[in-house]
Formats: sequence, C-alpha cells, structure tokens
Amino acid sequence: MGTVTETSSAPFTSPLAAEVAPDVLERFLRYVRIDTQSQEGSPAYPSTAKQLDLSRLLAEELRGMGLADAAVDEHGYVMATLPATLGHSAAAGGAQAGGALSSGASPESRPVDTIPTVGLVAHVDTSPEARGRDVKARVIQEYDGGEIRFPGDPTQVLRPADNPDLLRHRGHDLVTSDGTTLLGADDKAGVAEIMGAMAYLVTHPELPHGRIRIAFTPDEEIGLGTKHFDLRKFGADVAYTVDGSTAGEIQDETFSASSVSVTIRGHNIHPGYAKGKMVNSIKLAADLLGRLPREGLSPESTEGRAGYVHPMAVEGSVEETTLRFIVRDFDAERLAGHEALLRRLADEVAAGEPRARVSVVVERSYRNMKEYLAAHPRTLRAAETAIRRAGLEPRRAAIRGGTDGARLSEQGLPTPNLFTGAHDYHSVREWISVQDMGAATATLIHLVQVWAVDG
Ligand SMILES: [Zn+2]
Repeated sequence: MGTVTETSSAPFTSPLAAEVAPDVLERFLRYVRIDTQSQEGSPAYPSTAKQLDLSRLLAEELRGMGLADAAVDEHGYVMATLPATLGHSAAAGGAQAGGALSSGASPESRPVDTIPTVGLVAHVDTSPEARGRDVKARVIQEYDGGEIRFPGDPTQVLRPADNPDLLRHRGHDLVTSDGTTLLGADDKAGVAEIMGAMAYLVTHPELPHGRIRIAFTPDEEIGLGTKHFDLRKFGADVAYTVDGSTAGEIQDETFSASSVSVTIRGHNIHPGYAKGKMVNSIKLAADLLGRLPREGLSPESTEGRAGYVHPMAVEGSVEETTLRFIVRDFDAERLAGHEALLRRLADEVAAGEPRARVSVVVERSYRNMKEYLAAHPRTLRAAETAIRRAGLEPRRAAIRGGTDGARLSEQGLPTPNLFTGAHDYHSVREWISVQDMGAATATLIHLVQVWAVDG
C-alpha cells in the first residue's frame, strides 16, 4: 500500500451505491458461473441452448421478487414488468411510443398516467472470443494500484501502465477471472445491476416510479440480440441497454455501418492457351485493394471519430472474385462518401479492363443512434440526472461499433447505453469494480424515479 494519507476504505460514490453493492456482487458471482457463450454460425436461436440456463434462472428470480409476468419466450428472451408505484395504471400498458416523449409537456401539465414506461435491457450471452466455461471469479479487496496477476495463467498480467482506467480504481474491490476464461461481466454485470435494482425497488414501494419493463436478450455478441425482439410486446416508451463500460458514461452514439461487396467477373481458360484471352479476376481484385488509401481510413490506423473502409474477406478464383468490405463512420454523409469511394475504385478497375464485369452491392447494417436520440432529448437528460444522483459526473461517449440499442433506436425505441463498470471486454483479463457496480445499480434506481417525478 502507499502512504498513510491514502485511505483504504472502498470509495463508494453514494450511500445507495454502497447499500446495493453486496447484493449485486452476490448475483454477479452466481451468474458468471453459468456458461452462456453464444456461437457464430449456429443455425439455432438462441445460438446455444445453454444461454437458457441463465435466462430461466432470471425469470424465476424475477417471479420470486414479485414480478409475476416474468417469463422466457420461445426465442429465449426474458421479459418482465415491475408495475408503477405512482399514477400509471398497470392495466394501461405503455404510452404510445414517442407520444409522451415528444410532447415536451412539463410534469405539472402531464397527467400522471402518461408517465413513460422505462425499459432496461441487458444480454445474457458472453463473447465467443475467449473461453466462457468454468469461470472462477475472484475478488481483489482494496486494489493497491499495482500489477494484477492471474492465478490460472501467470502469463496474463494487467498493468496500470497500459491501462489508465485501472489507476483510477485504486482502493476499489475488483473482480476478475482466474485468467483462463472470460469473466463475463459483458454483460452479466448489466444483468446483475438490473436484477439488483429490481430487488431494491420491490422492497421500497414508497419510491415513485412508472411502469418498468425488463428484457434480457440472447445472442448479442454475435450481432443477433434484437433479431426476434418484439418491440410491441416490450411496450416501453424509452429504454436503456446496460452494457457500457466506464462508470458515469452514457453512450449515445454508435457508428453508422454498411457492408459493401464488390464482385469482379473475369474469364478463365486453360493457362496453356490463355494468351490474350484470360482475364484474371484475382489480379483485378488486388488492383482494387491496391488503390485504397495507404494512410488512414482503416481500423488499424484510426481511432476516435474517424471512420474507415475495411476489407474483411476475399473469396474467389480466376473466373470470379468477391471482396467483402465493411464501412463505418459516425457521420451519415461521410459514410456515403466511403461507399462512393469503393464504387469509384470499382469503376477505375472496370475501365482498365473492359472485358471484366464489376458489380458493387451496398447493404445498410445500422445507423448512428444519435440521429434517432436527437428527437428524444429527455432520454439522455434523465440518464445524466440519475448518474449525478448516484454520485458520478455523467459523460457522453461514442462507441466505435454498434449496440442492440442502435437497432432498437432505429426501430423507434430510443435506447442509449449505460455503463456497467466493466473493462477489457472479450478478454481473459476482463475486470470490474464492485463500487462501480453499486453506482450503476444506484443509477438505475434513480433513473426510473427521474422519469416519474422530474419530467
Ligand atoms: Zn455486451
């Protein structure tokens, strides 16, 4: 430990965060023991049946708390309702999506039965990128700011030098795996925090809130978390995914994303008789790739708000070759510019070899949620108020990727992403602070009250 002036008492951000943390930690440690890894390319939905082991347990625990309608549906989604304690009649269901939000009515003028239904969403599956079975979580009490080594694999080390977030967590209690598996905080931290918030609210019926809807989704890590998400059945007016990272953050921006495939048709013929006749599509594809900018516009050379054009896969032979790209940007116009660049390069290649046929197909993947959240400013304001009440300074952040909330927002349910407190996702060095989990849970408890009371 450091000097005597350093306090070793755990730095909770608020009394509520301290009060809920032990329950949330206990839930988290239980949930991470259940293997819920999803699997790319599986024909089933959910992609792995073992995800249901956790989904069923969560539904059972929610029913045990008194959320009587908690159930797992045929696609593996858990949904449940915590009825309003104030004004909002349980039978009335959610207000029409958008209606209560865009009216801009002040709390005084808004009838109490139009308190928006708030949705809280987390995913039960864990990433296929590292082992998710036999998770042995351990709690490091009062982290001293030094290197963290892992009992199961001495080659794994978390160094504060490469990890500035760690340095900000001196004195916190940190949870990690033993270094041989994921921890699974992505997103069992979000699951435990929502469960902890529900457990607190059911035992504090004096706290005012509207109708709350909970959803735990499968297969988020393989990009299919919203595939069967029934927005109508969910019936929320506004929602939050609890699947972010650093304490205090609200992620209100995602990339806008498209996939682009360029197919080049050449002409194959026996190489012995090919002179003047063969058109090798592989070489034309290489020509196109060679025309991409050498500096910038790639994931390996950009960060922050810079977008990219990224060749993901090449498939082909002399006769025909397909190049698969993903293009990403936070700005819709710049995204269109990246798509246009690929069309132009395809045209240049086609112009250089008129016997080849080059076609370009652009498919829209998801859009920056900011475009949709802009119409619902209260969504972010309420989250910022809640984060402040939990004792943290809110910070808006952009994700260089997508979230399930990006797709939900595009479909009409504004859904930014709230922090969980977890770090180093998808790696065996994943870690989370118990104090931050308490703060995340306190944020959710404040959030539903902000929507009911503050307007
Ligand atoms: Zn996640």
